[in-house]
Amino acid sequence: MVATALPGLGERERTALALVALAGTARPAVAERLGIGEAELSASLARARKELRKTVAALPGSGWCERAEGLISDRIDGALADRDEARLDVHLRNCPRCVEHERRLVQATDALVAGAAPAPSAPQLVPPSPPPSLSVATAQLPQPTPEAAPAKRGSRELAGALGWTALIVFAILLAVAALAIALAGALGAGL
Ligand SMILES: [Zn+2]
Repeated sequence: MVATALPGLGERERTALALVALAGTARPAVAERLGIGEAELSASLARARKELRKTVAALPGSGWCERAEGLISDRIDGALADRDEARLDVHLRNCPRCVEHERRLVQATDALVAGAAPAPSAPQLVPPSPPPSLSVATAQLPQPTPEAAPAKRGSRELAGALGWTALIVFAILLAVAALAIALAGALGAGL
């Protein structure tokens, strides 16, 4: 998935980012798995996160900004020394560009994580077909997709259900009325 999102990334950077940022694996375990030192892993993650941030925004930067990006990457994983933290804070106070980098990186990481949340092997491009027991009227209703408005489910869903129930009851009443009229017409014609 990271490879799809960031095709320009090397194997090591890609794996490091996937394990740390997506799977939440601790850095030492990832370093061991990749057979590299923690400093090397730190650099790999910084490179990967730079690529990730570039997917949402291109930012020019000086050499100091390069180092700041590395420190930001370390801080995200809680692997930043106090001394470096102070240096990073000073830089961020004076560099809107790196503040923007951090903001964009968080945004891009969230998007990557959100993309990883549903089962990647079975993307639901079409809404699931309704069960056969439902009436035609219900079957033609737009089926709300679960990821469309996760925060607004509940009361809205309930209100919607009540609304549709009322509509279906109304439709049934109409059908009964139509049947009664037709029956009356038929009886009238017969008499
Ligand atoms: Zn900077």
